[in-house]
Amino acid sequence: MLVAIIIVHSILFNAKSVSVAAFKKDMSIDTTAVFHLQQAVHFQGVSYEDSVQAGLSAIDSFTTFLKNTYPDVFMELAHETIGAHSLLLHWKGSTTSAPVLFYAHLDVVPVEGVNWRFKPFQEEFQDDTIRGRGAIDDKAGVIGILEGIHHLLIKSFKPKRDVYIAFGHDEEIGGDQGAKIISDTLEQRGVQFDWILDEGGLVAENMVPFVREPVALVMTAEKGYMTVELRVTSNGGHSSFPPTETPTDILSSALVRLHQDPFERHVIPAVDRFMDATGPQMGFPFQVLFANRWLFNPIILGEYEKIPEANAMIRTTSACTILKGGVKENVIPSLVTAVLNIRLLPGDSSQMILEQLRQKVNDPRIEIVVKGIPMEASSNASITGDGFEKISKTIREVFPDAVVAPSLSIATTDSRHFTKIVKDTYRFLPVRMDRSILSGMHGTNERLSARSFSETILFYEKLLEKN
Ligand SMILES: [Zn+2]
Repeated sequence: MLVAIIIVHSILFNAKSVSVAAFKKDMSIDTTAVFHLQQAVHFQGVSYEDSVQAGLSAIDSFTTFLKNTYPDVFMELAHETIGAHSLLLHWKGSTTSAPVLFYAHLDVVPVEGVNWRFKPFQEEFQDDTIRGRGAIDDKAGVIGILEGIHHLLIKSFKPKRDVYIAFGHDEEIGGDQGAKIISDTLEQRGVQFDWILDEGGLVAENMVPFVREPVALVMTAEKGYMTVELRVTSNGGHSSFPPTETPTDILSSALVRLHQDPFERHVIPAVDRFMDATGPQMGFPFQVLFANRWLFNPIILGEYEKIPEANAMIRTTSACTILKGGVKENVIPSLVTAVLNIRLLPGDSSQMILEQLRQKVNDPRIEIVVKGIPMEASSNASITGDGFEKISKTIREVFPDAVVAPSLSIATTDSRHFTKIVKDTYRFLPVRMDRSILSGMHGTNERLSARSFSETILFYEKLLEKN
């Protein structure tokens, strides 16, 4: 996931450091909720790349823990297990308005590296900090949503429209057994959502250059995903008398052409809105540049191109991730292959990019094979509709010091599985984040302060309450 942030991470130059997080003065810490999140971290529901099996029993134990910890929630809301290990809850509303979905995932990525200052799955709450793998991604989402509902049930709140809550169990390896099956099931039942809130953007502190205020990044679009293989075959032969062009020569020339001729850049609405929102917060001269993009766009985009994360926001990218060929040092290989992982910008269909790829490769000796089924980029969610309005209003209530900015998710989230049954998709995890906290997600020393998590809970409570 995560990702989110990265997008802006260092768009132009290094940001100036500003003061520490400005928590609301009246933010009280719910120590019971904090304890619940720390306990949640202890379940090692790890999704490994080749198999989710290893973590499944821990995920099942985790869902049992959720049911035992929030008996009121599981009593009041209808609930079921889907895809054998994922959870779906349904909170019946009093009207027939189109329902909404709050989504989070139960699994976590493996622990790698030896630089952890604490045990990733066995720590107790300490130093005002919840510590361990999943403390943010995405158990802060799971526990935050359930705590929010729990608070509302205490107040005898009943939603006006149907609210669904779904927790997928295999997001970190694609969501095919979790989110996809939940979505298929809801589609069969004829459920159509007005909007969905999934993880994605965060409240980024000191990460958007030249912006002193925290920026709440609400991802209103997500890039697509396609993998292709370039294949060159030959009759092989002895390397003592090589042909004019070996398969390796042919393939590497194509890779160089692709590197020198990237896909065309353009500013999609989500990125345009991001610039609209953050530009006015920048000091001179950047404020002027961003306010006059009709004139300065070439300069701004030229700078974006220099930074990988920013470059990924303005074009479809292609990266050669696997290169193979040859079995013996004195034999011309009969097959050489290059795997390209392509991330599709919204508006660039897989078909269109495949055609452009053929033109750029421009060599009939190279076969281009699509591996798997491409995932198209998302559409752009509305920033004037009900969902964005409620999410941004809630952000202003809970994070009053933050600027709300739509943005583009350059990585994939489980929300993509719901496209067929939702009008607008938003990706935002209400957690404050600076670079050091960010590095813990999918990295080492994942942790979240109790105060920060209190904001997370309050956000979900206030947003749920608006429905
Ligand atoms: Zn995640």
